[in-house]
Amino acid sequence: MDKKRIVVLGGGYAGVHAAKRLAKKLKKFRDRVEITLIDRNKHHILMTELHEVAGNRVDEESVKISFERIFAGKRVNVVRDEIKTIDFKKQILEGAKASYPYDQIIIASGAESTDFNIPGIKENAFFLWSLQDSIRIKHHIRETVREASYISDPVEKKEKLTFVVAGGGFTGVELTGELLEWLPILCKQFGVDYKDVTLMNIEALANILTMLPEKPRNKAVAYMKKKGVIVRTNSLIVNANEDSLTLKDGTVIKTKTLIWTCGIRGTKFCHELDLTDGRVQRKQVDQFMKSPDYENVYLAGDGVWFMENNRPIPQIVEAAEQTAAVAADGIIYTIKKEFGVDAKPVEPFKSNFHGYMVSIGGRYAVSHTAGISLSGFLAMAMKHLVNMYYQAGVCGINGAWGYLKHEILNIKERRSLIGGFASYKPQGYWFAFLRIYLGIMWLIEGIGKIKEGWLTDTTGSKVYWGSPVANAVGDAVSSASTAVAETATKAVETVSSASYAVADTVNQVGTAAVETVKQFAPPLLKEPLALFTWMNDNLVALAPYLFQLIITLSEVGIGLALIAGLFTAPAAVVSLGLSFMFLIGALAGKEILWYMAVSIVMIGGAGRAFGLDYWVMPWIKKTWNKIPFAKKLYIFMDEPEFTRKQMERRLAKNKDITT
Ligand SMILES: Cc1cc2nc3c(=O)[nH]c(=O)nc-3n(C[C@H](O)[C@H](O)[C@H](O)COP(=O)(O)OP(=O)(O)OC[C@H]3O[C@@H](n4cnc5c(N)ncnc54)[C@H](O)[C@@H]3O)c2cc1C
Repeated sequence: MDKKRIVVLGGGYAGVHAAKRLAKKLKKFRDRVEITLIDRNKHHILMTELHEVAGNRVDEESVKISFERIFAGKRVNVVRDEIKTIDFKKQILEGAKASYPYDQIIIASGAESTDFNIPGIKENAFFLWSLQDSIRIKHHIRETVREASYISDPVEKKEKLTFVVAGGGFTGVELTGELLEWLPILCKQFGVDYKDVTLMNIEALANILTMLPEKPRNKAVAYMKKKGVIVRTNSLIVNANEDSLTLKDGTVIKTKTLIWTCGIRGTKFCHELDLTDGRVQRKQVDQFMKSPDYENVYLAGDGVWFMENNRPIPQIVEAAEQTAAVAADGIIYTIKKEFGVDAKPVEPFKSNFHGYMVSIGGRYAVSHTAGISLSGFLAMAMKHLVNMYYQAGVCGINGAWGYLKHEILNIKERRSLIGGFASYKPQGYWFAFLRIYLGIMWLIEGIGKIKEGWLTDTTGSKVYWGSPVANAVGDAVSSASTAVAETATKAVETVSSASYAVADTVNQVGTAAVETVKQFAPPLLKEPLALFTWMNDNLVALAPYLFQLIITLSEVGIGLALIAGLFTAPAAVVSLGLSFMFLIGALAGKEILWYMAVSIVMIGGAGRAFGLDYWVMPWIKKTWNKIPFAKKLYIFMDEPEFTRKQMERRLAKNKDITT
């Protein structure tokens, strides 16, 4: 039977959400359905973070998530192609590289900036609605400050150092926020006096950030002004040329940098499709996100025109995801019906927006979510949490961790909500000595146990003393340990007599094979925690000798691994686990905390410097990244990899979906 072909055009917020939902909900029919996502780019671009690239807070890699990463473990074919047009009658997308037939389609091609036909804007302003735009702005700003450093004429210098962001919506304010943070850094770098810099945010309406209530809006204005930004409202720009712009009241502002963020419309591509128009180049849809023209054509995201409560749905991420969900559900319903399977009728679109969070640089934000207005640290923390949640939804733990790293842990120039507190990175070789030392300590422990007969005593008496006796032994050990502690303070010789006291006390318990576990004395805890006792009675009791072997061999293994710097991270995790067990079993003194602390440090991969991991880890990483379940659960490292067979299968599929 021929497969049903579903095509999602566009891998932005709407497209990715739709494709993932389709793959998840049609999982059962994977042999009868083929889902294909087509985008001109290789990456899903995190548009909501573009201002951070433009303002040099994060690098461009941080706002790109490859489709490979998102869909490597999912039943979604990804095709990189620029779609030129769609023949809705023949049900074919015409791309630059090939043609793609479909049975059902979701068009999610996003939006583009618009200049509202104001003279001179298109030719002289920068726009911010793509990754390329943001990189262009970044280079221009850096270059402008660098060039200004060579200008001696004060008037010329001042003009050169006048930066204007037009638009007081979230894009304009967020970009202004980045610039107010970055420009002082740049000035310092190029020896320019920051007093010569003018940064302006110009808005045609009476207020900026009109989607926010008055309180957070005022806080945003106050913060920007405090940082030296000139916020000009009621200032309509009527034209621009390469050296200046003119406001409606006749004011001329001399500048070489005008960044235009005043408005967006549907893409030209979408506009030219033979579908009923809405307004501003967006296409009309019904409440199921379906085009009125065709039963099998859906639209989602910024390109959709739909009135809800007399207002068009906004061009924001939540709207993109929610329209995508309705569109995907429509297709799922149709397909299930065609397959003769019971299907839940689709709920018509009803927005459920939670609010807005607007960052003004990396350290300050204002927000209004779920009826609560916040500003400063809390608003910023909330924005990060929401973004992290988004990334976790797109590519699991991998996405959330990536976000945490590029937004907070690895941030440059202290531009995060915790400043640069976590971003300093010492070189791995500083840890080599510590790693080897920890390894030696474990090796000594392990060898000590071997000498004590842990490998040869098959009764398992070194780790398990039997339930009824265990308590008595515990008491005995703890009183003996107290004796050790008291005696140890007197003199070194008395330690040995205290040890005899331990042995004597234990003997008094009268059990045959009992020996105390010689670990670190005196123990940090007086008695084992319930978890340890439970594990001892329910797990260790089943095979004490096996546990004895595991402990001994683990100690030796951890020791050797750390010394060699081989498999350092897993060895450190085992080291941490074992130390924890000794701690909660009241088997270890306070030294165990040292073991634990150093183990945590080693998890970061200290074996890559002066260790065998330098050669081994890249190989492991590559192999691990090819495993299907690592891809499915998003637990691969960096980018997923493919075996030759997997690659051939993917290529064959991609051939299948073209005409
Ligand atoms: C700087 C900035 C800050 C923002 N901040 C926020 C914010 O804080 N909160 C918020 O909710 N929203 C914010 N937004 C808006 C938000 O990014 C958009 O609403 C969202 O991206 C819309 O998603 P989408 O899927 O409709 O379109 P997009 O994310 O733009 O995706 C469209 C995709 O379609 C592809 N495509 C288009 N045409 C073709 C073609 N012909 N062939 C192949 N592929 C094609 C594109 O390559 C792209 O991948 C911000 C936007 C910017 C620029």
